[in-house]
Amino acid sequence: MIELIVQPVGRVRPEDAIYVAREMPKHFPISIRVYPTMWSLQPPASAYEWSRMQYRAFDINEWLSRSLGPLLKGGRLALGLVGADAFVSGLNFVFGLADPELRVATVYTARLEDNDNGRFLSRLLKESIHEVGHLLGLEHCPNRACVMSFSNDVEDVDLKSPDFCDSCKLKLIRAYSDKDLVP
Ligand SMILES: [Zn+2]
Ligand SMILES: [Zn+2]
Repeated sequence: MIELIVQPVGRVRPEDAIYVAREMPKHFPISIRVYPTMWSLQPPASAYEWSRMQYRAFDINEWLSRSLGPLLKGGRLALGLVGADAFVSGLNFVFGLADPELRVATVYTARLEDNDNGRFLSRLLKESIHEVGHLLGLEHCPNRACVMSFSNDVEDVDLKSPDFCDSCKLKLIRAYSDKDLVP
């Protein structure tokens, strides 16, 4: 059984984390148990790049891994939903970043926001599933409808579905259907 903690960071509303935690398992072809935490964390100023007004996504992942420390024992995974904008070197911005070695991923909401809350939640869910897909070993998928396809902008996010294509599904089933991540 795969276990995942969903952690709101900064100005992400707890109900958004609860929404992601409730909806995410419906889109995975393997069983995944998702727990939203009941508290929110403040991102560290040390991970903020003042000249760009963005967070360094690598630093946020490392910080989140340290902050959740004991909760990640035994192979548990964590997804941070961060109410901010972030980048990695070489890219103007990222919607999210997964670090399979740390078993931590983050999604950044600043560029997913919309006046239509339903549209925002749909984007948040897709990018959350996408980053957890990376945590479970999936790469980007050439199928534009697949949740693992790379999104350059928010229009790409809106065009893809929250589901894995058959090929990505098969990869997950082969890798995890009979493996226990948490003993
Ligand atoms: Zn990706
Ligand atoms: Zn795919």
